[in-house]
Amino acid sequence: MTHAREGRADRGPRPALYLEIDGAAYRQNLRALRQILAPGVRCMAVVKANAYGHGARAITALAVAEGVEYLGVHALDEFREIADLAAGVPVALLGPTLPSEAASVLAAGVEPTVSELETAEALAEAQRAAPGAAALPIHVKVETGTHRQGILPEEIPAWCRFLHAHPELRLRGIHTHYANIEDTTDQTIARRQLARLQEARRAFAAGGCVPELLHSACSAAALVMDQTHGDLVRLGIASYGLWPSRETFLSALLSHRAGPELLPVLSWKTRVAQVKTVPAGEYVGYGCSFRATHAMRLAVLPVGYYDGYDRRLSGRGYVLVRGRRAPVVGRICMNMMMADITDLPDVALGEEVILLGRWGAESISADDLAALCGTINYEIVARLGRHLPRLLREPRETSPASG
Ligand SMILES: *Cc1c(COP(=O)(O)O)cnc(C)c1O
Repeated sequence: MTHAREGRADRGPRPALYLEIDGAAYRQNLRALRQILAPGVRCMAVVKANAYGHGARAITALAVAEGVEYLGVHALDEFREIADLAAGVPVALLGPTLPSEAASVLAAGVEPTVSELETAEALAEAQRAAPGAAALPIHVKVETGTHRQGILPEEIPAWCRFLHAHPELRLRGIHTHYANIEDTTDQTIARRQLARLQEARRAFAAGGCVPELLHSACSAAALVMDQTHGDLVRLGIASYGLWPSRETFLSALLSHRAGPELLPVLSWKTRVAQVKTVPAGEYVGYGCSFRATHAMRLAVLPVGYYDGYDRRLSGRGYVLVRGRRAPVVGRICMNMMMADITDLPDVALGEEVILLGRWGAESISADDLAALCGTINYEIVARLGRHLPRLLREPRETSPASG
């Protein structure tokens, strides 16, 4: 009866809404990605945006234990969150650094991305003001066609003169970022960007500044264009078990290399917070966007757009209950939503519901949700609320949902 099920479901330590992080899957993804790299190519685990919603601390600990050579974050506040876990692994700031942040960057011991001489000047000044500090490793971003961060080729001689005059800074790397490598199977633009980066390296070398590392590859480039690997690849989305795009998956197939098997690292679960009957003719939710044509049973779920369940899934998404699809009914609220369980008899209060993940033969991937929302899997996972508990499932065990 329902009471027994409710008791079982409620007894465990599981919260009503949480993310489950599969540590073994993350490790396996990193290993599979390493397999496609030539020996000696370094791996940067990109853990920005709270590790793409997976939880920066748990993922950083896994990445460091797995022996990554670099960690990548967007900004200083993200670095501070994981600083104690880096354990000697260098951390690069991939986002811009402002001159006003120079002293903090130096004190933190991170390697900034620099695209403005004014920032380089401020960093050099901060280094001079810190007695005994070693030369600060910096990564100069080169503009090759994305027109986001980066210096233009004609600025390189001035940068070389600056670096010669400022031994406080050390040219650890030059790098760039691809504009459309995920969006197409035609890599003409990416090849042009890579050629421009290589040209920039020659220009730096001609000015007497040989960068220690050349890096450009994000996940998609690492997966489909070996020539982009350079000295270091920066792996984000693929390390979390998600393909950067359909086109990337296709390109990997077309390149006669099916590509590594990527295992999704994250599942998102909740529990039924109320079971209710809706008489025929009644409306459900804000805006009265849904009206029952027959008597229905709904599960009220304690999750909404505040948690990262996109409001665009109103009336379109579905969740998994007992391994079967239960459609989302009506609008997603701030903290709640409703799913149709009319055809699933005896669903009990407290029963497990999967919002994202696998249950038997059924699954809901970040790609599925992204397609329903008209966005990309990156946004689906990156916007999962920071407040959600993230439970590390380690070592690998059968989840209550897949058993
Ligand atoms: C986020 C980011 C990456 C990782 O990109 P993925 O597509 O997630 O692998 C790499 N490089 C830079 C500069 C980034 O900002």
